[in-house]
Amino acid sequence: MFVRMGLHARNRGFGGTELLPLILTLDYETFGSGVGDVMRDVIEPTRRLLSICDKHQAKMTIMFEVGEYWAFERYESQLRKDLGYSPWEQMRGQAVDAVQRGHDIQLHLHPQWIGATYNRGAWQLENRYWRLADLPGGLGGKDQITSITGALHAGKQTLECMIRPVKADYECVCFRAGGFYAQPSRDVIAGMKEAGLRMDSSVVRGYRTDTPFSVDYSNVKTDKLVWWTTDTELVAEGRPGENILELAVSSRMEPYWNSFKWAKLRAAMRRRKTERASRAGKGSGSSNNISSVPSCRTVLRKMLRKHAGTFDFCKLSRKDMLKRIREHAGHLDQPLVLIGHSKDFVNDRNFDKFLSNVHQDATVQFMTMSEYTRTRVRDATRAERGRPAPCDSQPAAG
Ligand SMILES: [Zn+2]
Repeated sequence: MFVRMGLHARNRGFGGTELLPLILTLDYETFGSGVGDVMRDVIEPTRRLLSICDKHQAKMTIMFEVGEYWAFERYESQLRKDLGYSPWEQMRGQAVDAVQRGHDIQLHLHPQWIGATYNRGAWQLENRYWRLADLPGGLGGKDQITSITGALHAGKQTLECMIRPVKADYECVCFRAGGFYAQPSRDVIAGMKEAGLRMDSSVVRGYRTDTPFSVDYSNVKTDKLVWWTTDTELVAEGRPGENILELAVSSRMEPYWNSFKWAKLRAAMRRRKTERASRAGKGSGSSNNISSVPSCRTVLRKMLRKHAGTFDFCKLSRKDMLKRIREHAGHLDQPLVLIGHSKDFVNDRNFDKFLSNVHQDATVQFMTMSEYTRTRVRDATRAERGRPAPCDSQPAAG
């Protein structure tokens, strides 16, 4: 039974209300290694997820992976022949439909798909640039797709061209880096600003890995879950409105073994099965050997250490998720950003019950990334206008 948080008398939350903003985000993609089937791993699970969201009036923000979408567009006729359907057409149709139902679409990018080639049912990805900052063009400019600015600009344009015909005021303002690889962040911040993106959601407090590439968020220099960054670091707090709004994925440090829940194991087993089957030549495959599931050796090595467990609605039990919300009760001004992956969604009943409980709770409000960002940017602009003008002249001498 869900215990109501009963916080009305104690806290004032986001925008002066007493409601905790809960932002559901879904990484919408196949596998970073190039394997998977769009119909099975993206379209079908997302269809079920969205229908459960609609039932409980919850809004989902779909983090739309544009790198593979571009690749599917380039190889349209070959894929249609091999698969019997067009993956990019399916993704586009589902995104447009989701927006018409009140959900949100924002930018997600795995740069290794830029320039990917498809041959005899297998994808060859550019493994040199899994990290956005490793794109060969560096910071670059808007017209260079193999640069940070160019890739982000193209991603934003793709989503705005896709959605504006059905929602004229739609804007792509939020970004999440593939694999959370948003470091080194100086050029990522500069590229986002140049492309017109206002908010990032790539930081997972406490998360670090060296495989297949390195990223380290173990030293976030603020206690907040949302903050304005400096011009060089996503993990450091700067002046409101000046750089990028960081909306960190909700996480907490816990022993690795603690995260071995049934739903998580099922999702990991499903991923491994798909990747192995694809390498063995069943279904759309990849000639890459980079797996999205850690090896048994890596798991054993990690077992005794603490790790950052994300608030993952595809992997956590309903009970654990409600517990996390209750534990967050003292921080109503800080939103909770939940994450899931369409390819991991196996437990419909768990998600259905969780949303039902949250929907009944009067102290929680579902928000999209767009809604939240718009309000924060507006507040920062107002605060900036209200600030006394900087003194630009020295008092006259004598
Ligand atoms: Zn991703």
